[in-house]
Amino acid sequence: MLDYIYADNAATTQLDKGAFDAMSPYMLEMYGNPSQPYSFSRTARKGINEARKIIADCIGAKPEEIFFTSGGTESDNWALNSIAMGSNRMLDKAIVVSEIEHHAVLNPSRRLQEEGIPFYTISPDRDGLISPQKLDNILGQTNCGLVSIMTANNEIGTIEPIAELCEVAHAHGAIFHTDAVQAIGHIEINVNSLGIDMLSASAHKFNGPKGIGFLYIRNGIPIRPFLIGGAQERNCRAGTENVASIVGMAYALRENCLHIAENIQYISSLEDRFLSQLSKSDASFKINGALVKLPGLISISFEGQDGEAILHRMDLKKIAISTGSACDSKRTEISHVLKSIGLEENYAKGTVRISLGKNNTYEDVDKIVDSLVKIIVN
Ligand code: PLP
Repeated sequence: MLDYIYADNAATTQLDKGAFDAMSPYMLEMYGNPSQPYSFSRTARKGINEARKIIADCIGAKPEEIFFTSGGTESDNWALNSIAMGSNRMLDKAIVVSEIEHHAVLNPSRRLQEEGIPFYTISPDRDGLISPQKLDNILGQTNCGLVSIMTANNEIGTIEPIAELCEVAHAHGAIFHTDAVQAIGHIEINVNSLGIDMLSASAHKFNGPKGIGFLYIRNGIPIRPFLIGGAQERNCRAGTENVASIVGMAYALRENCLHIAENIQYISSLEDRFLSQLSKSDASFKINGALVKLPGLISISFEGQDGEAILHRMDLKKIAISTGSACDSKRTEISHVLKSIGLEENYAKGTVRISLGKNNTYEDVDKIVDSLVKIIVN
C-alpha cells in the first residue's frame, strides 16, 4: 500500500519488521509444542520464557506475573471475571469502572451485573479525566471489590491519573485493574510505581502481531483460571501457546520501550505540525481530550459536519482515519465516550480520530491537512 497514508494507528499498527523476523523461525523451524518434554520443543519453550521476561522488564513486573492471552478483549474479560466470579467472588462487592471504558470492559461488567454483581460507573469531566476525588466519593458509598479505569482512552487519548486512582482504590480495599491497551509501548508504564494490580495489553497496538496480548496479575491477587483445559500459563489459561506471536509481541514491546522518548518526541512534532497547519486554514475545529494525552492521537470535531462522510472522502484520497473508535465502526450513533464528555451533538457528529504513529512522516501530515481542508472548507 505504498501510496496509502495510514493515520489510524490507534486502531492497529504496522508489524515491526524485526518482530516479523523474530517470529518466522518459530513457525517454520522451531515449531515444536512447548509443552512436550523432548529437546525439539525446548527452543519453543525457551522462546516463551524469554518473551515473558522481556515483557515483565518493560513494565517493571516479575515474569510469573505475565499471562499470555489472545489480546486486549480477553485480558479485560479475564480481569473482570477473575475478581467477580467463582471462589474469588467477594460477596456483594461491587465493580466500579469509568463510563469511557472500551466495550471490552463495559460489556463484561454489564453481564456481571445481570448475574447479580453490583456495578457502578464513574463519569469523566469534559476532557475525559476521571477525578480521584470522585472515585473516593463513590467508593465511600459502595462496598467495592474491583476498580477498572483505562490508562489512556482510545477515542480521545486522555491519559488518566492512574497512580492517584490506584491509591484511592487501595485505600478502600479494592483491587485496581487498568486497560492499558492504547498506552503500553507509547508512554512509560511501571506497574509498581503506579500501584497497578492488573493490566491488560494487546500486541497489535504497539507494532506486534494481532491476536496476542497479555494480562499482568500482581503476585498475591486472587486469580481465577480463565480458560480451563491443559496446564499452560500455570493452569490459568489453557491452550497451546501461540509461540511465534508471543515472541513477536515481546520483540515489538521491547523495541517500542527502548525508543519511547524519541518516539514521543517525533510523534508529538508530527501532531504539532498537523495542528499548526490546520490552524492556518479556514477550517474551524475543536480538539477533544485532556492536555496530558497520548502523543499523535487527535480527536477533532468539525461543527455541523458528518464524521463518517469525512472518513469516506479521506479514503477516496487514500488516507485512512477513523470516526469514533475502530471497534465501533459499524455503529453510526454518537460514541459513548463523546456523549460522556458532554460534547455537543453538532460537534460529536462531525468528529474524526487521526492517530499518527512512528511510521508517519511530515509529508503525510501535510497531505492529511491538505485533504481535510479541501473536504471541510469546500
Ligand atoms: N481496550 C482498548 C482501550 C482498545 O482500544 C481495544 C481495541 O481497540 C481493546 C481493548 C480490544 O483489544 P483487542 O482488539 O486486542 O481485543
